[in-house]
Amino acid sequence: MNYYATPIAKLIEEFSKLPGIGQKTAQRLAFHILSLPQERALELARAIKEAKEKVKYCSNCGNLTDVDPCNICTSPQRDKGFICVVENPRDIIAIEKTREYKGLYHVLHGAISPMEGIGPEDIKIKELLQRVQKGDIKEVILATNPNIQGEATAMYISKLLKPLGIKTTRLAHGIPVGGDLEYADEVTLARAFEGRQEI
Ligand SMILES: [Zn+2]
Repeated sequence: MNYYATPIAKLIEEFSKLPGIGQKTAQRLAFHILSLPQERALELARAIKEAKEKVKYCSNCGNLTDVDPCNICTSPQRDKGFICVVENPRDIIAIEKTREYKGLYHVLHGAISPMEGIGPEDIKIKELLQRVQKGDIKEVILATNPNIQGEATAMYISKLLKPLGIKTTRLAHGIPVGGDLEYADEVTLARAFEGRQEI
Protein backbone atom coordinates (compact mmCIF):
# COMPACT_ATOMS: atom_id res chain seq x y z
CA MET A 1 0.00 0.00 0.00
CA ASN A 2 1.45 3.33 -1.04
CA TYR A 3 0.81 6.05 1.52
CA TYR A 4 2.56 8.80 -0.38
CA ALA A 5 1.93 10.57 -3.65
CA THR A 6 4.62 9.41 -6.09
CA PRO A 7 6.70 12.66 -6.07
CA ILE A 8 6.75 12.62 -2.25
CA ALA A 9 7.79 8.96 -2.18
CA LYS A 10 10.59 9.81 -4.61
CA LEU A 11 11.79 12.71 -2.43
CA ILE A 12 11.79 10.52 0.69
CA GLU A 13 13.65 7.81 -1.18
CA GLU A 14 16.38 10.27 -2.28
CA PHE A 15 16.81 11.67 1.23
CA SER A 16 17.04 8.20 2.75
CA LYS A 17 20.01 7.44 0.48
CA LEU A 18 22.05 10.18 2.21
CA PRO A 19 24.52 9.19 4.95
CA GLY A 20 23.06 9.18 8.44
CA ILE A 21 19.49 9.70 7.21
CA GLY A 22 17.04 6.99 8.19
CA GLN A 23 13.53 6.49 6.88
CA LYS A 24 11.95 8.68 9.57
CA THR A 25 14.31 11.62 9.08
CA ALA A 26 13.91 11.30 5.31
CA GLN A 27 10.15 11.62 5.72
CA ARG A 28 10.53 14.61 8.05
CA LEU A 29 12.88 16.38 5.59
CA ALA A 30 10.59 15.69 2.64
CA PHE A 31 7.56 17.13 4.43
CA HIS A 32 9.63 20.10 5.54
CA ILE A 33 10.69 20.83 1.95
CA LEU A 34 7.07 20.64 0.82
CA SER A 35 6.02 23.11 3.52
CA LEU A 36 8.58 25.69 2.37
CA PRO A 37 7.68 28.64 0.16
CA GLN A 38 8.37 27.82 -3.50
CA GLU A 39 11.41 30.13 -3.66
CA ARG A 40 13.15 28.61 -0.61
CA ALA A 41 12.72 25.09 -1.91
CA LEU A 42 14.07 26.05 -5.33
CA GLU A 43 17.03 27.78 -3.70
CA LEU A 44 18.01 24.47 -2.12
CA ALA A 45 17.64 22.69 -5.44
CA ARG A 46 19.76 25.37 -7.14
CA ALA A 47 22.46 25.17 -4.45
CA ILE A 48 22.80 21.42 -5.02
CA LYS A 49 22.88 21.88 -8.79
CA GLU A 50 25.46 24.67 -8.64
CA ALA A 51 27.76 22.92 -6.19
CA LYS A 52 27.66 19.80 -8.31
CA GLU A 53 28.33 21.68 -11.56
CA LYS A 54 30.98 24.13 -10.35
CA VAL A 55 32.97 22.19 -7.79
CA LYS A 56 35.68 19.94 -9.20
CA TYR A 57 38.91 18.39 -7.95
CA CYS A 58 42.03 20.56 -8.12
CA SER A 59 44.25 19.13 -10.88
CA ASN A 60 47.31 19.69 -8.70
CA CYS A 61 46.34 18.58 -5.18
CA GLY A 62 42.95 16.87 -5.53
CA ASN A 63 41.14 19.26 -3.18
CA LEU A 64 37.54 20.27 -3.93
CA THR A 65 37.50 23.64 -5.67
CA ASP A 66 35.60 25.90 -8.06
CA VAL A 67 38.84 27.28 -9.54
CA ASP A 68 41.67 25.15 -10.90
CA PRO A 69 44.31 25.07 -9.45
CA CYS A 70 42.66 25.66 -6.08
CA ASN A 71 43.17 28.71 -3.86
CA ILE A 72 45.58 26.86 -1.59
CA CYS A 73 47.81 25.73 -4.48
CA THR A 74 48.02 29.25 -5.93
CA SER A 75 48.27 31.23 -2.68
CA PRO A 76 51.54 33.19 -2.38
CA GLN A 77 51.19 32.85 1.39
CA ARG A 78 51.60 29.08 1.35
CA ASP A 79 55.01 27.42 1.69
CA LYS A 80 55.30 25.25 -1.41
CA GLY A 81 58.11 23.20 0.12
CA PHE A 82 55.64 21.29 2.31
CA ILE A 83 53.04 18.75 1.18
CA CYS A 84 50.58 17.37 3.71
CA VAL A 85 49.07 14.08 2.48
CA VAL A 86 45.47 13.40 3.52
CA GLU A 87 42.86 10.80 2.63
CA ASN A 88 40.00 13.12 1.64
CA PRO A 89 39.13 16.79 1.16
CA ARG A 90 37.28 16.91 4.51
CA ASP A 91 40.62 16.37 6.25
CA ILE A 92 41.93 19.59 4.67
CA ILE A 93 39.10 21.52 6.32
CA ALA A 94 39.96 19.97 9.70
CA ILE A 95 43.65 20.89 9.34
CA GLU A 96 42.95 24.39 8.02
CA LYS A 97 40.83 25.09 11.10
CA THR A 98 43.89 24.55 13.32
CA ARG A 99 45.72 27.41 11.50
CA GLU A 100 48.87 25.46 12.30
CA TYR A 101 49.86 24.49 8.79
CA LYS A 102 50.87 26.79 5.93
CA GLY A 103 52.05 24.35 3.27
CA LEU A 104 50.27 22.60 0.42
CA TYR A 105 48.16 19.43 0.42
CA HIS A 106 47.78 16.23 -1.53
CA VAL A 107 44.50 14.33 -1.38
CA LEU A 108 44.80 10.58 -1.92
CA HIS A 109 41.04 10.05 -2.25
CA GLY A 110 41.15 6.93 -0.13
CA ALA A 111 43.58 4.68 1.69
CA ILE A 112 45.17 1.33 0.93
CA SER A 113 42.85 -1.42 2.12
CA PRO A 114 43.57 -4.97 0.90
CA MET A 115 40.37 -6.18 2.62
CA GLU A 116 38.30 -3.89 0.40
CA GLY A 117 40.48 -4.56 -2.60
CA ILE A 118 41.92 -1.02 -2.64
CA GLY A 119 45.56 -1.08 -3.71
CA PRO A 120 48.17 1.69 -4.09
CA GLU A 121 47.22 2.15 -7.74
CA ASP A 122 43.61 2.91 -6.78
CA ILE A 123 44.48 6.09 -4.86
CA LYS A 124 46.48 9.16 -5.90
CA ILE A 125 49.95 7.95 -4.91
CA LYS A 126 51.41 8.13 -8.41
CA GLU A 127 50.32 11.77 -8.63
CA LEU A 128 52.00 12.48 -5.29
CA LEU A 129 55.28 11.00 -6.51
CA GLN A 130 55.10 13.09 -9.66
CA ARG A 131 54.62 16.26 -7.61
CA VAL A 132 57.44 15.38 -5.26
CA GLN A 133 59.86 14.63 -8.10
CA LYS A 134 58.94 17.81 -9.93
CA GLY A 135 59.07 20.33 -7.15
CA ASP A 136 61.44 21.60 -4.51
CA ILE A 137 59.90 19.68 -1.62
CA LYS A 138 61.43 19.98 1.85
CA GLU A 139 59.01 17.76 3.73
CA VAL A 140 56.08 15.44 3.13
CA ILE A 141 53.76 15.15 6.12
CA LEU A 142 51.69 11.97 6.15
CA ALA A 143 48.36 12.86 7.76
CA THR A 144 46.38 9.77 6.83
CA ASN A 145 43.95 8.50 9.47
CA PRO A 146 45.41 6.74 12.53
CA ASN A 147 43.71 3.42 11.71
CA ILE A 148 44.98 0.26 9.99
CA GLN A 149 44.35 1.53 6.45
CA GLY A 150 45.82 4.97 7.17
CA GLU A 151 48.93 3.52 8.80
CA ALA A 152 49.47 1.05 5.96
CA THR A 153 49.14 3.89 3.45
CA ALA A 154 51.62 6.09 5.36
CA MET A 155 54.14 3.23 5.55
CA TYR A 156 53.77 2.49 1.86
CA ILE A 157 54.33 6.13 0.86
CA SER A 158 57.25 6.63 3.23
CA LYS A 159 59.02 3.64 1.66
CA LEU A 160 58.58 5.20 -1.77
CA LEU A 161 59.85 8.60 -0.64
CA LYS A 162 62.85 7.42 1.34
CA PRO A 163 65.05 6.63 -1.69
CA LEU A 164 64.27 10.11 -3.03
CA GLY A 165 65.88 11.61 0.05
CA ILE A 166 62.80 13.58 1.04
CA LYS A 167 62.07 14.20 4.70
CA THR A 168 58.89 12.30 5.55
CA THR A 169 57.00 12.81 8.79
CA ARG A 170 53.92 11.32 10.40
CA LEU A 171 51.55 13.21 12.70
CA ALA A 172 52.27 12.66 16.39
CA HIS A 173 50.00 10.56 18.53
CA GLY A 174 47.20 12.23 20.39
CA ILE A 175 44.73 11.58 17.63
CA PRO A 176 42.80 8.58 18.93
CA VAL A 177 43.99 5.38 17.27
CA GLY A 178 41.30 3.95 15.04
CA GLY A 179 39.81 7.41 14.77
CA ASP A 180 39.18 9.74 11.89
CA LEU A 181 41.29 12.81 11.33
CA GLU A 182 38.29 14.96 10.52
CA TYR A 183 36.71 14.27 13.91
CA ALA A 184 39.79 15.19 15.94
CA ASP A 185 39.37 18.46 17.82
CA GLU A 186 41.42 21.43 16.68
CA VAL A 187 43.79 21.52 19.67
CA THR A 188 44.60 17.80 19.39
CA LEU A 189 45.19 18.13 15.68
CA ALA A 190 47.38 21.23 16.11
CA ARG A 191 49.51 19.38 18.71
CA ALA A 192 49.77 16.36 16.45
CA PHE A 193 51.21 18.67 13.80
CA GLU A 194 53.74 20.28 16.13
CA GLY A 195 54.89 16.90 17.39
CA ARG A 196 55.14 15.18 14.02
CA GLN A 197 58.01 12.73 13.74
CA GLU A 198 60.24 11.59 10.97
CA ILE A 199 59.55 8.06 9.74
ZN1 LIG B 1 45.06 22.47 -5.17
